[in-house]
Amino acid sequence: MGYTVKEIFYSLQGEGAHSGRTAVFCRFAGCNLWSGLEKDREFAECRFCDTDFVNLDQDTGGKFDSALQLFERVSSFWPVNSSNHYLGRPFVVFTGGEPALQLGEDLVQLFNNAGFETAVETNGTLNLPSNLDWVCVSPKANTEVKIRSGKELKLIFPQDMLDPVEFEHWDFEHFFLQPKSGDNYQENLRAAVNFCLQNPNWRLGLQVHKFLDIP
Ligand code: SF4
Repeated sequence: MGYTVKEIFYSLQGEGAHSGRTAVFCRFAGCNLWSGLEKDREFAECRFCDTDFVNLDQDTGGKFDSALQLFERVSSFWPVNSSNHYLGRPFVVFTGGEPALQLGEDLVQLFNNAGFETAVETNGTLNLPSNLDWVCVSPKANTEVKIRSGKELKLIFPQDMLDPVEFEHWDFEHFFLQPKSGDNYQENLRAAVNFCLQNPNWRLGLQVHKFLDIP
């Protein structure tokens, strides 16, 4: 199958349990909860998205005809030593948009075979490949979340009609509450801090890359 990729970049993971860790990010184009076009936002299932997953980056984004072609491009971002061996433990994060629209076991397996640790950031409404190492689910209000187990649950807070307590029995190792960005960020931050103080199962999730102004 072919793939449409918004961008590929090597940076530091800015969120969640892997915060501060180097990673290659493969951002797939497209999402099943919003077209990505402002004209459609008002009627979308997810309305607070702050990610451009539509306009393909001229240098790193585009169409890839096969899993091997995409693997070769993404893996080329990881640094190597003079013997062409990867430095450290290579780590790839599949994100979007919604990566589950395109991500399959064949692509993940190519990374696994090459020694990469593989992670996905998903809204959890679609099935995922079973061979991923790390699953981070970010549920959105009024959607049916299928993926109720994984490593990390990341809830954007607050969301109308969505109470974090409802998720506490789901099978995750880490529960992060991430203040919703935008005009009300300070208010949302205070609300998230207060919620965590009253519900210690939750950790405050900050988007460190935004403070540092890195991709
Ligand atoms: S589900 Fe994620 S990628 Fe899709 S519109 Fe919402 S925030 Fe954006």
